[in-house]
Amino acid sequence: MPRPLRIAIGGIHIESSTFSPHLSTADDFTVTRGNALLARYDWLSPAQPWATDVDWVPVLHARALPGGAVDPEAYRLWRTEILDELVKAGPFDGMLLDIHGAMSVVGLDDAEGDLVTAIRSVLGPEPFVSAAMDLHGNVSPVLFAHTDLLTCYRTAPHVDVWETRERAARNLVDALRRGQRPHKALVHVPILLPGEMTSTRIEPARGLYARIPEIEARDGVIDTAIWIGFAWADEPRCRGAVVATGTDADATARAARELGEHFWAAREEFSFVAPTGSMDDCLDTALLATADPALRPFFISDSGDNPGAGGADDVTYALERLLARPQIRDGSVRAVYASLVDADAVAQIADLPIGSPVRVLVGGRVDPRDPGPLRLEGTLEAVAEDPAGGRCVSVRVGGLSVFVTSRRMQYSQLSSYRRLGIAVDEVDLVIVKIGYLEPELFDAAGDWLLALTPGGVDQDIERLPYKNLARPVFPLDRDFAADLTAVTG
Ligand SMILES: [Zn+2]
Repeated sequence: MPRPLRIAIGGIHIESSTFSPHLSTADDFTVTRGNALLARYDWLSPAQPWATDVDWVPVLHARALPGGAVDPEAYRLWRTEILDELVKAGPFDGMLLDIHGAMSVVGLDDAEGDLVTAIRSVLGPEPFVSAAMDLHGNVSPVLFAHTDLLTCYRTAPHVDVWETRERAARNLVDALRRGQRPHKALVHVPILLPGEMTSTRIEPARGLYARIPEIEARDGVIDTAIWIGFAWADEPRCRGAVVATGTDADATARAARELGEHFWAAREEFSFVAPTGSMDDCLDTALLATADPALRPFFISDSGDNPGAGGADDVTYALERLLARPQIRDGSVRAVYASLVDADAVAQIADLPIGSPVRVLVGGRVDPRDPGPLRLEGTLEAVAEDPAGGRCVSVRVGGLSVFVTSRRMQYSQLSSYRRLGIAVDEVDLVIVKIGYLEPELFDAAGDWLLALTPGGVDQDIERLPYKNLARPVFPLDRDFAADLTAVTG
């Protein structure tokens, strides 16, 4: 009987914006090791047939909600632990890298490249490395050079996260059993777009990703993947990419070139997933629309400070515009604002009896941009413990419930609203710090607008002060010919 394959699993998973003043520290991460790490993967319990006769060795996995750039000390500690574990438990036949691909670390401009270089220095050149990534990650030349298989999600919103990790693991096992290092080809596509222009629910991203199964089914191709890239980090690696891997060098290079050309050819067709406007424009439309029951609840995404993309989660701009509306203050429109993070504000009022009058400054502590901390005067409506947000409160001002949380979180699920006593379908208007609506909210929404609000993940990327991007890149530059040559390996 052949000896089982030995495959290490680990990685650091975060999407972090260099334009957000938030610093992602060790406290923001959930770290798993040992059996808890193996338990992440449902294809291991019970093991799928392809995953048996493999020693899966958990190394370390650290994961956080998107945020600002990562504290370099936290990053170095985890990197060291990963390397130490690999030395201790090695040698290995392969490694599954479970990463996002858009981790910014203060002082580094290719964090995943740094991590994989360090991992290679310990693993040696022989083991195969397979990376499972988010399509909002970036593929730097260094990351590509040190991995043998790379793939990413094929849907946004991401509903194929676990399928992707399983595919990356299965392709790794298959390649090791074949005993042939895969051929690979990378085409960088000089396009940088906000995620909210590239939802696979709509064209052209839907059609672009729909080409993958046909191309992947060809002889000699193992996997093809398209990265949209990450627009909110000012790093040379941030741009679109296509990678194909395969058992035949020509078929692999052709697959990457073909998808890269389709991506580039579609560049002018990308547009926002929902109608957009300033916060005031969106409120004008929404406050008229809420008269029509079919359009309720009307959703507005406060997209520039979306914690799901790396925003600080405490910019008060949209809330201030909302509170300026008489229909909100006089209670003729019932609305929810979800949410602001402010642990101090929560601590000041959460122990008061429900119904108490409160007067408290909220938000604007991490990202103090205009208008900064805002005074809320209302009544304490609800207090709850949320698994993500910690202790949370709802403060009622006129017709508006303002949610304030102790930790950064995103109100992407209806159950989080219910914890603070709100059934979304019973209100007229929901303003939420998010980009495109996650599936539950999308299904609940009578209608929806994307407000191009200011913040660390401003969707109007032409307003961002980039200095280090590789140029030219569309749409910041428009009049140039793209070099879509495949880099192969
Ligand atoms: Zn993503």
